[in-house]
Amino acid sequence: MSTTVAVVGAAGRMGRLVVAELLDHPSLSLHAAVVSASSDARGVDAGVLAGRPACGVPTRAELAAVGGADVVVDFSTPGALAALLEVLDGEALVSGTTGLEDSTAAALGGYAERAAVLHAANFSTGVAALRHLVAQAARALPGYDVEIVEVHHHHKRDAPSGTAAALLGDVAGARGVEVADVAVYGRAGLVGARPTGEIGVHAVRAGDVVGEHAVWLVGGGERLVISHAAHDRAVFARGAVRAAQWIAGRAVGRYAIRDVLDLD
Ligand code: NAD
Repeated sequence: MSTTVAVVGAAGRMGRLVVAELLDHPSLSLHAAVVSASSDARGVDAGVLAGRPACGVPTRAELAAVGGADVVVDFSTPGALAALLEVLDGEALVSGTTGLEDSTAAALGGYAERAAVLHAANFSTGVAALRHLVAQAARALPGYDVEIVEVHHHHKRDAPSGTAAALLGDVAGARGVEVADVAVYGRAGLVGARPTGEIGVHAVRAGDVVGEHAVWLVGGGERLVISHAAHDRAVFARGAVRAAQWIAGRAVGRYAIRDVLDLD
């Protein structure tokens, strides 16, 4: 029997790719495709919107349309995710929306007490491996200065990227320090010498760059740079659809992309 999946943010760059991946998938079917109330794509067939043949599922503007799906996949906005969490009722949730308010992150945690939830700032397999390697390097090179540089297209609304924030958390975790005590976001003015242990995070916004992350570890007369570049957004959509298939029918709780990929 096929797993039914509802997509929230179906008219967005990511949402269209997720719908396309779902329609191509042999054991997943599209339950609903939700767009914002102001979207021109309201009522349009979700398959056509995603560049596929018509699939008989017109987009809807009501978040309640996700009700009863096995899994809800969300790539929308922080505000839409907050509203979605108020209407979900036990459906498994896979979300890639970044830039969440603390209250929405807390609501996500609360929903994970009622359903299976996987929120990831990056659904690419390569980035999951990058995070793994960066944590190892940060542990192996304790005295080295760490700087994180991310580059994204000029439409991106939040900074730093959720992936840069995750990498920051990985380095801090590997070193046993709190992010709030060590992070500095960009530098300007007479900032003085770099304190030991500081972790710099820098956001570049330019053109159509899909997403790049580099972690510099510098010290002792050498520099190690571990980096990843996404060439095609479809890599995130494929990861999210893989996560949707994986999470269907799982026990209530919070899952991470490394669980899907079995990286540990
Ligand atoms: P986008 O702006 O193209 O798409 C977001 C869509 O959400 C828009 O079409 C908007 O109209 C829609 N939306 C707003 N309110 C809504 C509502 N109430 N109901 C339904 N739809 C609503 O942005 P994007 O590039 O597709 O990215 C979406 C999110 O995913 C961002 O937070 C981005 O940072 C994140 N993202 C995550 C990953 C990942 O791998 N986790 C990858 C790329 C992007």
